Amino acid sequence: MDKFENDNNEKTGPKLVADPIAQAKVLSEALPFMRRHAGETIVVKYGGHAMGDEKLARLFANDIVLLKHVGINPIIVHGGGPQIGDMLDKLKIRSSFIDGLRVTDAETVEVVEMVLAGTINKQISAAINKAGGFAVGLSGKDGNLIQATKIRRTKRDPDSNIEKILDLGFVGEPKKITTHVIDVFQETDVIPVIAPIGSGPRGETFNINADTAAGAIAEAMNAKRLLLLTDVVGVLDENKNLIAEMSTRRARSLIDNGTIAGGMIPKVETCLNAVDGGVDGAVIIDGRVPHALLLELFTEHGIGTLIEPEND
Ligand code: ADP
Ligand code: MG
Repeated sequence: MDKFENDNNEKTGPKLVADPIAQAKVLSEALPFMRRHAGETIVVKYGGHAMGDEKLARLFANDIVLLKHVGINPIIVHGGGPQIGDMLDKLKIRSSFIDGLRVTDAETVEVVEMVLAGTINKQISAAINKAGGFAVGLSGKDGNLIQATKIRRTKRDPDSNIEKILDLGFVGEPKKITTHVIDVFQETDVIPVIAPIGSGPRGETFNINADTAAGAIAEAMNAKRLLLLTDVVGVLDENKNLIAEMSTRRARSLIDNGTIAGGMIPKVETCLNAVDGGVDGAVIIDGRVPHALLLELFTEHGIGTLIEPEND
């Protein structure tokens, strides 16, 4: 207790500990939640946009260490779209786009791997280690974690009604997840941090959407929960209001009618697959909220959008 008080005073000054009893109460109220989640594997997708802010990144790293300390096994899968875009600009590599989607040619995928599995992966691992954790960064190539195949996207030509194949280059989807390398860590203090890169059948490098990669890993690890952190409040409905909870049927209809679009599609689809695959909770949450993870896991106040099985 002495140490606790000293640490607190040292870092935050006595002002923030205005009501130590209230603070103790908050901790005490977290106990049932901590007991519920102890021993659970939780996959956290850490979003490209939500990662940008330095202070939030520090809080995120702290929260991950806290989860590990109360007996949860967090596995982090991260994105990095904005950072990849910045590096491509810096290197003056120009991309072409089909229907708003970046075509990832051989030169581009090299940069994607460099940024995701290099800079960002190590930044997150270092932040967690600085917060007192023991993070190890991996890419999907390590230990054969993510074997991928090229994604197939088609588009129907409105004039001829012929389905055209769109070639997005080295963009893949997970085909086989080999969990061995993370299984080994499960019984230890190691926190895996995974970059969504996969190897192809011919040794190609594939860029995989981080939400999709997180979902595939959650399923393969039998994770209890999947938390997708992003930089919006959650899924918005037709009137731009936050949807706190939705059934899988509603989610599908909102994709079909175009209300859910762009980067939100792989998130919601990942949650749908996770729920079908038996994950207890798949949630899209606002990573811009300080301590978003703690709020979601250790309080009554769910934030963001929870996707639930049909007959709940
Ligand atoms: P991340 O970097 O976290 O993966 P993305 O940009 O890929 O984020 O995906 C989130 C984006 O999806 C939002 O910023 C928003 O522009 C878009 N989006 C599309 N439809 C919706 C919707 N119905 N509700 C919320 N966001 C949506
Ligand atoms: Mg995205």
